[in-house]
Amino acid sequence: MPRHDEITQLLARQGDAAEELRRAALRVKREIVGARVFLRGLIEFSNVCRCDCLYCGIRKSNAKVTRYTLDDDEILAGVQFAADHGYGAVVLQSGERNDDAFTDRVARLVEVIKHRFPALGVTLSCGEESIGVYRRWRAAGADRYLLRIESTNPVLFHKIHDTASRYELRKQALDDLRSAGFTVGSGVMIGIPGQTLDDLAHDLEFFRDMDLDMIGMGPYLAHGDTPMGQAHPDTGKEKCQRLELALNMIALTRLMLRDVNIAAATSLQAIAPLDGRQRGILAGANVIMPNVGETAHRKDYLLYDHKPGTDENADATRQSLEKSLREIGEEIAYFESGTPLHYTRRTTR
Ligand code: SF4
Repeated sequence: MPRHDEITQLLARQGDAAEELRRAALRVKREIVGARVFLRGLIEFSNVCRCDCLYCGIRKSNAKVTRYTLDDDEILAGVQFAADHGYGAVVLQSGERNDDAFTDRVARLVEVIKHRFPALGVTLSCGEESIGVYRRWRAAGADRYLLRIESTNPVLFHKIHDTASRYELRKQALDDLRSAGFTVGSGVMIGIPGQTLDDLAHDLEFFRDMDLDMIGMGPYLAHGDTPMGQAHPDTGKEKCQRLELALNMIALTRLMLRDVNIAAATSLQAIAPLDGRQRGILAGANVIMPNVGETAHRKDYLLYDHKPGTDENADATRQSLEKSLREIGEEIAYFESGTPLHYTRRTTR
């Protein structure tokens, strides 16, 4: 396991040295999960959120956003598409709400999905909740939960969140998810204004020390209708630097954590539209989450500007993904739920 100062040096690699790092990560990825990529069908079922994260396009203070919540039929149509097309799992993602109507509805939806599609893995990504709610959602049948911490530097965390968000609570929520029995995922934004390589090295050590099963992270991208986006608009050069750093983060995550699932985030594709996700896979990622929700509302779920795929239909996305993965010697693991080996190992230790 590299020391902290070595991690920082590896993160700083550029050019051929960076490519060497990513090739080493790809070798580990292929040794652990093969030349295969798991698909999760993403359904962004509501953009209503009680939080005001300073970087996020759907923060509650952004009055320009048209708020929506998909009805059950719309959600189940996305799940049906995923099941019919061999996706091993679905991800139900939304803004954060703690009211009973919301938490009851999520529990009920999970039960319906698991009843109709028992082989399909169900991941939730609905923010911070009490351990009681997490236990309920897990009992309803949800398998996995994604809750990004965004930065493990508490000062930076508080700088990019509204005052209601607390670093300690986010960390506690990750512990609670694990206690509730979930396969637990987290991740960070890479290239947040003010973030250092030392911060990112601590993020990697956090992933390892928290014994996480899944990692989802990508480059920070500004949204023009947010306080952070207005204070720090992106330049093309910065975006390219963040992409390279994100690929090094993926590679180091694979080399340090080995048997976890790592997502090649859509934000990679936002910076490199032609091959961003492929480059993520070639740096050691093994999961892609194409949007299978209906296209009408995707433009209302923009966490950052120029998010790709907002007008692409789910079938076209799957076909182009299959082709682009074949080009780099990878194939889609159809009809496999893709439980991270790390989860299987840690729960049978
Ligand atoms: S990042 Fe998540 S919790 Fe924060 S405002 Fe956006 S949707 Fe809400």
